[in-house]
Amino acid sequence: MIKKGALLVISGPSGAGKSTLIKEILEKIPNVYFSISTTTRSKREGEVEGKDYFFVEKEEFKKEIERGNFLEWAEVHGNFYGTSITPVKKALQEGKLVLFDIDVQGFKLIKQSSFSPLLTSLFITPPSLKELERRLLQRGSDSSEVIQKRLKNAQKEIKQMYLYDYILVNEDLEEAKRFALAVARSAFLKWDKKEVDDFVKRIIAD
Ligand code: 5GP
Repeated sequence: MIKKGALLVISGPSGAGKSTLIKEILEKIPNVYFSISTTTRSKREGEVEGKDYFFVEKEEFKKEIERGNFLEWAEVHGNFYGTSITPVKKALQEGKLVLFDIDVQGFKLIKQSSFSPLLTSLFITPPSLKELERRLLQRGSDSSEVIQKRLKNAQKEIKQMYLYDYILVNEDLEEAKRFALAVARSAFLKWDKKEVDDFVKRIIAD
């Protein structure tokens, strides 16, 4: 099998189950690289620097923007989040599937970028906002003010889910895992024009 890189963006409201499904993909599918974002948000209990995020101060984040080091960045719930471009390029060169957990704003920016032909996108949504609220309360990691902010943002994001290639309603976790794995496997099959041209040239020359 030819080893080539591709991109998979996964978006969806916090509490939709993104992290669980991303973990499943990373565990079950080889050659997947998770893009670790940089954020100005404070660390939640259990989160690890350099594994979940790179946690930085606002000043440092702004410097990174000025240096042009982000493939995309956005302000979400009052904090900044961004994707560094260098590790993405390296993983693509190594033939990996680069997996992004980013919001709709970031997805739109990558879709407009030169990486677009290699991009597959998946939106994960809870079956209802009531269920989302229940999950966020159960998680217990956010104040009620933050939960309200997240629910408002969820509504805004759900309205834009038509922009994505695939939509997964996460109601039954085992079924959702199977579909997430199927999408990740199919994402490897996205080719850009240069890859197609090189391949065609090669097999014609054979
Ligand atoms: P959380 O604070 O729950 O970890 O993340 C909040 C939101 O920020 C989630 O929707 C997540 O997908 C998004 N996010 C995380 N990293 C990035 C990033 O690098 N860029 C963008 N645009 N959004 C991100």
